[in-house]
Parts: sequence; C-alpha cells; structure tokens
Amino acid sequence: MQDHYDLIAIGAGSGGLSVVERAARHGARCAVVEKGPLGGTCVNVGCVPKKVMWYAAETAHRLEDAAGYGFKLAREGFDWTGLVTKREAYITDINTWYHTYLKDSGVDLIQGTARFVAERTLDVDGRQVTADHVVIAVGGRPTVPDLPGAALGITSDGFFALQTQPRRVAVVGAGYIAVELAGLLQALGSEVSMYLRGETLLRAFDAMVRDTLMEQMLAAGVNLFPRTQVSRLSAHPDRVALHCDQEACEGMFDQVIWAIGRTPVTAGLGLAMAGVAQDEQGFIPTDAFQNTNVAGVYAIGDVTGRAALTPVAIAAGRRLADRLFGGQPERHLSYDTIPSVVFSHPPIGTVGLTEEEARATHGSAVKVYTTRFTSMYHAMTDHKVPTAMKLITVGAREKVVGIHIIGPGADEMLQGFAVAMRMGAIKQDLDDTVALHPTSAEELVTLR
Ligand SMILES: Cc1cc2nc3c(=O)[nH]c(=O)nc-3n(C[C@H](O)[C@H](O)[C@H](O)COP(=O)(O)OP(=O)(O)OC[C@H]3O[C@@H](n4cnc5c(N)ncnc54)[C@H](O)[C@@H]3O)c2cc1C
Repeated sequence: MQDHYDLIAIGAGSGGLSVVERAARHGARCAVVEKGPLGGTCVNVGCVPKKVMWYAAETAHRLEDAAGYGFKLAREGFDWTGLVTKREAYITDINTWYHTYLKDSGVDLIQGTARFVAERTLDVDGRQVTADHVVIAVGGRPTVPDLPGAALGITSDGFFALQTQPRRVAVVGAGYIAVELAGLLQALGSEVSMYLRGETLLRAFDAMVRDTLMEQMLAAGVNLFPRTQVSRLSAHPDRVALHCDQEACEGMFDQVIWAIGRTPVTAGLGLAMAGVAQDEQGFIPTDAFQNTNVAGVYAIGDVTGRAALTPVAIAAGRRLADRLFGGQPERHLSYDTIPSVVFSHPPIGTVGLTEEEARATHGSAVKVYTTRFTSMYHAMTDHKVPTAMKLITVGAREKVVGIHIIGPGADEMLQGFAVAMRMGAIKQDLDDTVALHPTSAEELVTLR
C-alpha cells in the first residue's frame, strides 16, 4: 500500500464509499479509512436493520388483516431473537460484499482511526498518509442528553443491539427515527410511550402528514406525551424509571430510547491541525461544491449537517468525484427538492415545500389540493388505515412545489412523482397522465 493518493476519504459509510468508488472509476488512486465495519451508519445501525424491522412490523399488520381476506390463522408469538440473528447475518454479508467492491474498484482500505496532522496529511493509528484531496465523511452518532441517569437509556445503536424484545419502552424524541422505532415496536407487540418536547411529531413535515400520523399512532395504542421535558432516569431492578416535569408522564420501562438527534463525529479528528472550520454544533460547513474552508479538503454526508440521508451522502460523493476527476467542473448536488420517506405505520413520502412554507414564500399564488380516503385493501379488513395526500402548486401555470403522502404504499409511490417535480411538472401534467387503476397512487393524477 502506498502513502500518497489522489484522494482519501475518511469514513467508509454512504458518502465515503461512493466518492472513492466514483473517483477510482475516473482513474484516480484512492483510499478510504474506516475504523468500524464497512457501510457506516446506514448499513450497520441505520436504514438497513431499521427497514428489516419495519418489514417485520408490516408483516404483523398483514397477519392482523388476514382474517378479512378469509384466512384463519393462529399466531404463536414473534421470535425477536431469531429475526435479529438473521438480520445481522444479512448485514455481515453486506459488509463482506463491500470488501470485494473496494478491491474490485481498485480502492485501498486503510483500517483504523484517521486524524489530521496537517492540511492533507492524516495519521491512521501511527501511519502517515497524504493525498491531493481529502474528503471528510465521518457521519454522526446518536445524541445522548446531559441529564442525570441518561446512560441508563439506549440510543438507536442500542436498539439494534437488543437481543430480546423489550415489553415496555419509552421513546424520547419526535423526529423520524423516534417515530420509526416507536411504530415498529408497537406493531411488534411492545407497549410504547413517546415523549415529545413540542406539540407534534415530525415538526418539519406538512401539517396534514403530522396530524394523520399522530392520529394513527394514538389509534395503534402508542401513549403520546407532548410538551414534556424528561428530567432524569433512575435505575430499578430490571427496569428504568423515567422522570419528567409532570408527574402524569412518569413511568417504569424495560428500555428508554433516546432519539433526540445526531451529533457529528468530529471529536478527535484533528480538524484544528488542518484549519478546517466547524459550526457551533460541530458540523463542517461547505459551499455548494462540498468545499470546506481549506483548499483540497471537502466534507460530505451527515457531518455537513444538511439533509442527513443516505442517498444525499451518495449523490454528494459521486458528484464531487465527477467534478475533481471526471472533467465536470460545475458538477455538484442541488439540495433543493430532496424527497424523503418515513417508515412509520403507515409510511410517509414527502418532497418539496410544506403548505406552510409555500404560503410563507408564495402567498396567495399557492393552490392546494388534498384528498383523504381508505384504500381498497382496507375495504376487506376490520382495521382501517387512512391515506391522505396533498399537492401544492404555485402560480397561474400551477407548478408543483410540494407533494405529501401518508398511507400504505406511500414509500414506494413517491419516487416517480419526485422525478416529475424535479423536471418542473405542472398540475396539468399530472392531470394529463393516464391513471393506474385500481391503485392509491392514481388519486394524485385525479385531484380536483
Ligand atoms: C436509525 C437510523 C435510520 C436511518 N434510516 C434511514 C433511511 O431509511 N433512509 C436514509 O436515507 N437514511 C437513513 N438514515 C441516515 C443515514 O444512515 C445517514 O444519512 C448516512 O449513513 C450518512 O452517511 P455518511 O457517509 O455521512 O456517514 P456514515 O454512514 O455514518 O459513515 C461514517 C463512517 O465514518 C467512520 N468514521 C468516523 N470517524 C472516523 C475516523 N476518525 N477514522 C475512520 N473512520 C471514521 C464511521 O465508523 C462510519 O463508518 C438513518 C440513520 C439512522 C441512525
């Protein structure tokens, strides 16, 4: 292995792997430094294990619905330990695959912890390596609050390490990770309480989506404690007591999960040695081209504090490599119109402006179309789940600026609509598209 490269990425997660793979394809000599398993957060303690658990929770719902379709089933519990074992084996296969992927791409893997000792010089556990371009892609870790007894709780990382199913669980937080973990645990039979500092779940989402989700989580049996400040945790035999500012919300739990946000993993990275600036929360600010304030040093993914999603980290990495080595000097990621999905029950798909944002920016030029219905699937089931959709347009031509969907299938429905919106679709384009029938998605092209 050499000691000087065209490009080194720190972190072999979604961002780091994609920048080195694309740069190597353009002919650059690349290395990636990784201190943990390949694949980073998404593969090991994020999207992948979360989606496996979400599928399990969806299966639980399907089993409940089966009677409506004439099946007489006897349920004999749920084997959490067995599923976790299979899930982890699946993840190990992905980790192994990434080793082959790097080898086949001609990228050197340097295993260890990287730290800057100068602008483009890294120390990796005692070995010094240099590069013309260094990409910081170190991601984030779950935030644990500074409260008495906080260490008695776990985070999403701890959730994925659970070998047995907790019966009573408190989830503290209101963002998408809190919603997803609470939803899947409840569906799999745990008794879940959610503690929110503010009034609602998913504060940044459109109000229609937020309200429908709150309604559905309450209907599923989740105990919601809005406007609640958790003050401390205390240990009891086999249990954790959660204390808060109101007596009514105190409780004893098998697990308390902190899902209150993520902190960039920049401590110990030696950023000061390289002169790389950070904001007050530790994120690394970049310009539109992923440049930090130091020439030849870039940051991508969660560590930049912008749109912390796997496809965003991947897209930023690939575009950066195209710009540096692919002869595309203007190539960069536009952070506008990034679609996202929440794997709640039911799932959410959303892209563009919320109604509130659209009205604040475009005032009376905004026109909103909404619909709410029960999908045909639930015509046969006792348990009904609503679908709600909102289309937001602006101006006389009715340019589509926001699409928000909550309901079964919303996760798979949104991608194509996000393409249309990125291409500048107007309402008439949707109206002129022939519907797929009978589906829920067709409602989006028949809105009146
Ligand atoms: C519970 C959960 C669920 C999620 N679900 C989704 C989802 O459904 N869809 C979605 O798009 N996104 C999801 N995300 C977000 C997604 O995982 C992240 O946006 C994505 O992983 C960010 O990629 P990254 O490359 O910036 O960082 P990471 O994937 O975190 O990779 C950073 C890597 O850097 C390594 N590293 C850090 N410091 C050093 C160092 N000094 N030296 C060497 N290596 C170092 C780390 O070990 C890690 O492997 C989820 C996240 C969580 C926590």
